[in-house]
Amino acid sequence: MKIICIGRNYTKHAKEMDADIPTAPMFFMKPDIALLRPGRPFFYPEFSRDIHFECELVVKIDRVGKNIAEKFAHKYYSEIGLGIDFTARDLQRKCKEKGHPWEIAKSFEGSAPISKEFIPKKELNLDDLPFTLKKNGELVQGGNANDMIFKIDVLIEYISQFMTLKKGDLIFTGTPEGVGPIAIGDELIGSIGGREMFKVKVK
Ligand code: MG
Repeated sequence: MKIICIGRNYTKHAKEMDADIPTAPMFFMKPDIALLRPGRPFFYPEFSRDIHFECELVVKIDRVGKNIAEKFAHKYYSEIGLGIDFTARDLQRKCKEKGHPWEIAKSFEGSAPISKEFIPKKELNLDDLPFTLKKNGELVQGGNANDMIFKIDVLIEYISQFMTLKKGDLIFTGTPEGVGPIAIGDELIGSIGGREMFKVKVK
């Protein structure tokens, strides 16, 4: 399986990162060992001093497809989950300065906590789907699928031009504004529409 992550898919987040608003989707990937299984703690890695949370809706692909047209994209996923795209912001800054790829900042072990549960999309309104992240009980991120610059079906069309999507692949759809640092001892709780989806402890 592969994990595809969309960058800068919310206007306010692109602005908080001093980045341009993209005119086409941009994505990068994480390896399977980036997945942090539900209930497991995240161990703060030694190579960074500035790990940030980025809470994101996650689409699970459940059918193989290549060159999927936007109008058919809805047939390729039936469940939505929630995850975090942990980012070593200090390393990412250096990668950006040097024009290097982002993998060391984005694709490390445990950098993709994922919800245990995925919600059938027929139970959800993708045009109005709020989600939140709380850090130590305090609301730090609140987003809505409706604020995505590129909606899920557009992302599937775009990605599938370049690579076949397979059953079990995950698409992290980008983070809203409010990203920030974590510290050892923190507890992160993500919810979709008030329904708790994951709890991650930082150790
Ligand atoms: Mg992200």
